[in-house]
Amino acid sequence: MNTDYGQFYFDLHTHTIASGHGTFDTAEELFKSAAKKSLLSLGISDHAPAYPGSCRESYFRNLPLAPSVRFGINAYYGVELNILNKEGDIDLSPEILNKLDYAIISLHTRVTAPMSCSDNTAAYINAMRHPKVMILGHPDDDTYPVDYESLLHAAKEKSVFPEINNSSLRQDSGRVNSHRNIKTILNISKKLDLPVLLSSDSHGRKHIGDFSGIIPLLKETDFPRELILNTRKSLYLIRHE
Ligand SMILES: [Zn+2]
Ligand SMILES: [Zn+2]
Repeated sequence: MNTDYGQFYFDLHTHTIASGHGTFDTAEELFKSAAKKSLLSLGISDHAPAYPGSCRESYFRNLPLAPSVRFGINAYYGVELNILNKEGDIDLSPEILNKLDYAIISLHTRVTAPMSCSDNTAAYINAMRHPKVMILGHPDDDTYPVDYESLLHAAKEKSVFPEINNSSLRQDSGRVNSHRNIKTILNISKKLDLPVLLSSDSHGRKHIGDFSGIIPLLKETDFPRELILNTRKSLYLIRHE
């Protein structure tokens, strides 16, 4: 995929049939799609167990046994955790989380009722304490308004990266004011010199590596290429143990 921003090499927010909604595609089909789209790496991040219809802990327990290269693509195995409350509790045990490559922390209406702006912000910040948390999942949704200055300062301090979620920008996303909020996130991240991660949040193979909705916002905010993690060939931030 070529854009004015050059090549993007990976996508870490994707879902398989194990998430229980939105797709019947298996991990194998996602990796094949990533190979066709010339990505170097792909991360699978199915919904953690509190999400209705998603997989159980045993699925995540066994992920570290999956192959580390599939169809020539570097394979990473993570999780999209649910933040359960303002204390930042999450829905996977530290024992299992420690064995995964990375975790995304998200708020979902099917799991956690919207709270006040200060409580939503505290929820994200408190959830950063768990092992392997690397990515703020779609923090662009006014269903869960947040204080972006506080949130992104905390992210910078804890080496957690805000995601810029392409699915949030789709007509059918259901997320509120994402277009405006993503511009705010990009502007503050630029000011803080905080790298961001572009994500497809693809359910199935169809949108793997699709960041097309984000490009106009990167241009509009004059966002520096060097602060986009996906332009780096090495996922230095992910540690295999
Ligand atoms: Zn999500
Ligand atoms: Zn997701």
